[in-house]
Amino acid sequence: MQDHDFIVVGSGSAGCVVAEKLSANGRFSVLVLEAGGTDRRFFVQMPLGYGKTFFDPAVNWNYKTEPDPGLAGNADHWPRGKLLGGSSSINAMVWIRGQREDFDGWAAAGNPGWGFDDLLPIFKAIEDNEAGADEWRGRGGPIHVTDNRGRVHPLTHRFLKAGQQAGLALNQDFNGAAQEGVGVYQINTKNGRRWSAARAFLRPAMKRANVRVVTNALATKIFFEGTRAVGIEYLNNGRTVTARASREVVLCGGSVNTPQLLQLSGVGPADLLKNLGIPVVLANAHVGANLQDHLGINYTYKGRLPTLNQTLRPWWGKMLVGMQYLLLRTGPLSMSMNQGGGFFRTDEGQPRPNMQLYFQAFSTVLPKPGERPILTPDPWPGFSIGLSNCRPSSRGSITIRSKNPLAYPKIVPNAYSTEVDVAEMLAAVKFVRKIASMPAMSEVITEEVLPGPKCVSDDEQIADFRKRSGTVYHPVSTCRMGPDASQSVVDPRLRVHGLAGLRIVDASIFPDNISGNTNAASIMTGWKGAEMILEDHA
Ligand SMILES: Cc1cc2nc3c(=O)[nH]c(=O)nc-3n(C[C@H](O)[C@H](O)[C@H](O)COP(=O)(O)OP(=O)(O)OC[C@H]3O[C@@H](n4cnc5c(N)ncnc54)[C@H](O)[C@@H]3O)c2cc1C
Repeated sequence: MQDHDFIVVGSGSAGCVVAEKLSANGRFSVLVLEAGGTDRRFFVQMPLGYGKTFFDPAVNWNYKTEPDPGLAGNADHWPRGKLLGGSSSINAMVWIRGQREDFDGWAAAGNPGWGFDDLLPIFKAIEDNEAGADEWRGRGGPIHVTDNRGRVHPLTHRFLKAGQQAGLALNQDFNGAAQEGVGVYQINTKNGRRWSAARAFLRPAMKRANVRVVTNALATKIFFEGTRAVGIEYLNNGRTVTARASREVVLCGGSVNTPQLLQLSGVGPADLLKNLGIPVVLANAHVGANLQDHLGINYTYKGRLPTLNQTLRPWWGKMLVGMQYLLLRTGPLSMSMNQGGGFFRTDEGQPRPNMQLYFQAFSTVLPKPGERPILTPDPWPGFSIGLSNCRPSSRGSITIRSKNPLAYPKIVPNAYSTEVDVAEMLAAVKFVRKIASMPAMSEVITEEVLPGPKCVSDDEQIADFRKRSGTVYHPVSTCRMGPDASQSVVDPRLRVHGLAGLRIVDASIFPDNISGNTNAASIMTGWKGAEMILEDHA
């Protein structure tokens, strides 16, 4: 039996921060259990290695959802990071905080301390922003944020111009005073390398004597004495190991795994647990419920001008950008696949942006035989304008199928299951076509490849996005935070309602999804969660 003050389950975006902060003052011993392995891998550290890790079982849980009626019956691919750094080690590195109103909504729902003005100092403290510090941005923090405005592909500038011709403002900083408009994405990299939560927080903490990180350690059960969590059982290289936490167990396994581990341990919907023969420690129907996610789709074009396809497809192009990357740490391999983007409203009645844009100066619609999509650039000059919704109203669920901790849970997204989500996406794809029809874009487009000119009517466009869209990897809220134990899983201090010694600190606690990519908000959750834990153990 191992004994520690704190056990942190999962070293993802939030877990890395928790491990760093809880260990910083040297008073507490911290055990970090990570189901995956090391992040010291070339394709993890090289930003455009994203295409490789997207399906790689060595670093990725590679979940599949249930066939979803809202996605024309497709079972969606859900990558999640399974390595040090979690999903922050395999994500697309777009650095977006969300909108002020998102967090103000969290606070207004009865979660004091989670409003935007409360969180802004944390967002600033997290950052080391290349663009410099100001009222909104931070300098000197652990996460380096690269300002790519001078580095993007020329086509990205055309996209920005077309966005302005379509009526959007040019936005120099989506994390500044306002999110609306088109602009170049800032990304969390440093000197051409991914700057994950592991790199920024966990690696420095691992140098401390009071931190022990065990990789290939799958937590399989939380131990309770009565209603107090006292430890974790985990599998490590075929051995079952037990560890005790004298202060707290902190769950940071992310939106899929945290509800799974709770359910396996007897905390969850009573009927589900009883049917599987799991003794109920605490019945709570919200464990694994209220799943929210962003859905996205790409419109892909063939162009007159060379795109990154012409650079990244031929062997000599790969060699050139490979040399450029290895020698100078610059070029396309040092960037996110999403160079530009934006936020817009689908109609003027929307009080704030409800859609996000992505511009990719390459296309991968034709996989080579036997190869997964997204690995091989198309043989013609292609590029894509993508989008995703910001605050869809559809809700899904995550539930275990059996007592076996190795069995993947059942993921039911219920995508586009409300009329408003369908109507909003229809308006949004029409706007993408509007951007493509603007002079700055249309003069370089020869053909719309996907969905193509035959997809015209509303019904055709809806059928198309049901068939082709899928997650943009932002599942949240499966253990949502709230003041009312009958409506949520954790309280505003992230303590699991009705249990002692157990907290959840990851994206599963978001009361509602934020408008944009979820990594920065997950890191912020780790930071704030750790601060509250430290206050409670002062
Ligand atoms: C492909 C992809 C692209 C994305 N792109 C972006 C982007 O460009 N910008 C952005 O802001 N966000 C992006 N995201 C989303 C963002 O990365 C996540 O929202 C965020 O990382 C979630 O953080 P988390 O701490 O909740 O969970 P995670 O970072 O997923 O961490 C959970 C960790 O816990 C471990 N774990 C789980 N269960 C157990 C267990 N039982 N025992 C031990 N360890 C366990 C996992 O292996 C993992 O390391 C992307 C995500 C993906 C997958």
